[in-house]
This record gives sequence, structure tokens and C-alpha cells, in this order.
Amino acid sequence: MKREENLNQLADSSKTWDIAVIGGGSSGLGVALDAISRGLSVILLEKADFAKGTSSRSTKLVHGGVRYLAQGDVGLVLEALKERGKLLQNAPHLTQNQPFIIPIYSWFDRAQYSVGLKIYDWMAGKLRLGKSRFISKSETVRRLPAVKQEGLKGGVVYHDGQFDDARLALAIAQTADEAGACLLNYVSVRGLLKDEDGKITGLKVRDELNQEKYTLKAKMVVNATGVFADKILQMDNPDAARMIQPSQGIHLVMDLEFLGGKDALMIPKTNDGRVLFAVPWHGKLVVGTTDTLREKAKLEPEALQKEIDFVLETAAGYLTKAPTRADVKAVFAGLRPLARPKEEGAKTKEISRSHKVIVSESNLVTLTGGKWTTFRKMGEDTVDHYQEITQELLAPSESFEMKLHGHTTQVPEGHWSVYGSDAEAIQKLAEKDEELAQKIHPDFPNILAEVVWAAREEMAVKVEDVLSRRIRMLILDAQAALDSSLKVAEIMAQELGKDSKWIKQELSDFRKVAEKYLIKA
Ligand SMILES: Cc1cc2nc3c(=O)[nH]c(=O)nc-3n(C[C@H](O)[C@H](O)[C@H](O)COP(=O)(O)OP(=O)(O)OC[C@H]3O[C@@H](n4cnc5c(N)ncnc54)[C@H](O)[C@@H]3O)c2cc1C
Repeated sequence: MKREENLNQLADSSKTWDIAVIGGGSSGLGVALDAISRGLSVILLEKADFAKGTSSRSTKLVHGGVRYLAQGDVGLVLEALKERGKLLQNAPHLTQNQPFIIPIYSWFDRAQYSVGLKIYDWMAGKLRLGKSRFISKSETVRRLPAVKQEGLKGGVVYHDGQFDDARLALAIAQTADEAGACLLNYVSVRGLLKDEDGKITGLKVRDELNQEKYTLKAKMVVNATGVFADKILQMDNPDAARMIQPSQGIHLVMDLEFLGGKDALMIPKTNDGRVLFAVPWHGKLVVGTTDTLREKAKLEPEALQKEIDFVLETAAGYLTKAPTRADVKAVFAGLRPLARPKEEGAKTKEISRSHKVIVSESNLVTLTGGKWTTFRKMGEDTVDHYQEITQELLAPSESFEMKLHGHTTQVPEGHWSVYGSDAEAIQKLAEKDEELAQKIHPDFPNILAEVVWAAREEMAVKVEDVLSRRIRMLILDAQAALDSSLKVAEIMAQELGKDSKWIKQELSDFRKVAEKYLIKA
């Protein structure tokens, strides 16, 4: 996946793309993947980096959604369980089967969760990841050594999937690119082109790295910009009412010892009725989340102090050692798109987690809602509109069976797993040049060869792309990422042919972002 080559394709003004996708999060990438599986030509434009938005800030669960089952949304859960099962097969290097334990403090809860999770198992059918079952108090304590034992009666174990969200986004982009799609990061959509009937015919875009402008022609344009969907809808129709109300969810990252084992903790209903997860991930513990209305859609949302306090206090209610601010290695925030109430003062209603595809008068196709787990099906349902918009025949979708970039039956050990079949090539770089075999940071297993690989093969063009999304150090330990930024900038500058001025600018840009992930004790 080479940015320069893809920019050349963008510059070819004689070309008309079948589909142009705005947004390189899970939704847009799902559209690109499905479109290419049907033999359509597709271009995707992302104004920052792939998954820079909500798609790198999730709880990292590939799940059917036990919560939605409790709300009776059976169709949504069935769909998500099917996608979950297939994704674990198509990307075994980026996903895994994760056991979760719900600690049980009352016999009513035991009955309620045991029955609910049996139904969840049964709904997954052949794609089930494991059987749910009640476990004794002693087994619960053995598996979750740090869970509060007072009043504990046992636990219910169930299985869901877990994944690396930003790396999965990259693997989808690489898969689509290898099949012929043209994907570009740091290219923003600035305007829509229309014919005399007001139908969309293409886009005005800008390369954010050198400010160069381009126009492109497309038969169908998809708005997959998550919480930014209103901006594109208003480009289409300046009078369009705002549809989206962002709602923030934060996660705190701390040492694994706060939970103590390999199993994840799930609290279906905290004292104030929310769900709390504490999940082992890349050697740390990710704890969240919250639900706080925010006025503005932002690419780099900041956690509020009250959200940090809420997660710490709630976690303390279930753990023997209460985590404090000083224990938090990083905090990250993401925005969900909720439906904005039609009348001022009315209650905000969450868009059902099932996605929506809306076709405007101009033929702009907007994909909203949904979740990471169902990205492929969301893409398929969006591309299904191609025929009605272009009057051209549309081949059936084949994305369900597509193995994703790096797929291997022999997933490499340790931190190499996320690279799948690419791991060997990166290790070879380090064998040829011993400088590249050095660690990026003493507390992390990643080596400098991964930085070279990210710049050479994974379209990483900024220090933040590497430290936040190619390797996940920024959200695992923000201070370690800051301490590593100079080394990473120097290696990237060599690889990308940049000078000391570039290094200085990158370090300053990265510091500004990274400071938002640090918690002051
Ligand atoms: C706190 C939290 C936890 C979650 N946990 C889970 C989970 O565990 N499992 C799960 O399945 N789902 C989860 N979700 C849901 C899931 O993360 C989202 O549904 C999904 O990431 C949304 O992806 P998206 O592509 O629609 O939006 P985004 O990822 O935000 O992508 C939109 C992209 O559009 C780009 N863009 C905007 N304007 C332009 C423009 N003019 N030109 C070009 N590009 C533009 C942005 O830069 C951005 O990258 C969670 C959500 C939140 C908020």
C-alpha cells in the first residue's frame, strides 16, 4: 500500500470511480472492502490516518452485544454473532477468543446471567466461541485474583471476541488495496461536485500533507464519516438539520495486576446502571467506559476529569486494590454518534446499534451507526444501493469469505501476532541491520524494524501514526510513547527522506496529542 502510487491514481482526471468513500474508519473501510469484492472500482479518502477517529478508540471487543440481547434486540445480536465468528476466521492474527467472567453476588443474578448467556451461546450456532457456565467462588477467585470477595457467590464465564481495532482497520485497507482499491490517508473531502439535476458526480479533495487540490469523478459517493456525518450532509444541503449528537466513552489503561489473570471482568450493571469492562489487552488492562454527551465532533476528544473519576470509582467497587490516578498509564476517549433530538430540550435517544443507510435527494449515501464488529455487513448493505443509484448491474458480495491481509494459520507468538504473515519479513529487516533489532522502549517488545515497516509498507507518514495506531504504545502507556518519539521520528525521517525541520515539527505535533493521553496524578 503505497501513498505515492495511490496519489497518482487520484491525479488521473480521466478516471470515473464506481464508488468514492469519504472516511477511513471501520464503516468506510467496510464499504471499500465489499465494493472491491464485487469487482467495482473504489477510492477511499481519509482526512487523517486510517482509524484515527472512533475506530481506534473502542473497547476492542468483537461481540454480539450481551447488552443488546438484554434489551431484546435479537436481530442485531444474531447479525453481530455471525460477523464475530467469521471475523475470527478471516483475521485470526488480529482477533482472539476472550473469556469474560461476570462476578455473581446474588442468586438472582446467577439465574439471570446463566440463562441469558446460554441463549447468547445458542444464537451463535456453529460460530460459538465456547460454552458459558457458572463457576464456583474458588474458581472465580483463582481466575480473577483481584476481584472483591465479600459477598461473592461465584461467576458466570462466557466467551466473546477481542481485537486490535486500529490494526484491523489497516489490514482491511491493505486487503482492499491489494485487490485493486485506491486508499489514501491525509486526504480530506472539501466539497461535492454535482450535475445540473443536483446529483452528485464527484468530489473536491485536498492532500493535507502538501495542500495540493484534486477533483475526482464517481458514480456513487458514500459518507462514512462517523460523528462528522453532519458536515458532509451540510456540504450536500446547507439547510440539512443536524442528525448527530456525539456521546463520549473513555477508557483507562493500567497494569494487568489490577485484575490479576488472563480473563476479562464484565459488570453488566454498575450501581448507576452502566456496563463496565476490564479487559486484558497487549499486556495491560483496559477499563471503561462512560457515556457523556459532547457538543462538538472532534478528531481528538479529551476525557473529562469527572469521567476519569467515574471509571476509577466504579472499578474500585469490584477490585481489591483500588486503582488511583497515579496508576493510569493512559486515557483515551472516543465519540459515538447518537441521534440528535428533533426538538430542543427533548431527550437524546441513542441510534439503535443497528446501522442505517440513508440516500439523499442528490444520491449521497450516508452510512451511520452500527459497530466495529459488523463493519463488513454495514459495507455490504451500503454497496447494495449501487444498482438503484447507477442503474448498473451489481455482482453479489463476496466480502464474507475474504481473508484479511496477514491471514495465516500459524499466528506468530507474542507481540508479532498482529503482523500475521508479515512478521517474518519485519524480523528479516532486523537480521540484516542490527540497529533495527533495538527496542523502541525498554518496557515494550517492539523493535525499530517495525517503524521502518510501518513507514515503508503501512502508509504511516507521521510519528503519531506509528506510536498510536501501527503499534499501540500511545494508548498503552502515554509517557513511554512520548519518551520513544525522538527515536521513532529519526528512523521515519531516514525512511521517508525528511530533514531535521520535519523531525522538530513531528515531535511538537506528537507532544500536543500525547499530552491528552496522560493523567496528572
Ligand atoms: C467508547 C466506545 C467503545 C466502543 N467499543 C466497541 C467495541 O468494543 N466493539 C464494537 O464492535 N464497537 C465498539 N464501538 C463502536 C465502534 O467503535 C464504532 O461504531 C466505529 O468505530 C465507528 O466507525 P466509523 O467509521 O463510522 O467512524 P470513525 O472511526 O470516526 O471514522 C470516520 C472517519 O471519517 C474521517 N473524516 C471525517 N470527515 C472527513 C472528510 N471531510 N474527508 C475525509 N475523511 C473524513 C475521520 O477522520 C474519521 O477517521 C465503540 C464506540 C465507542 C465510542
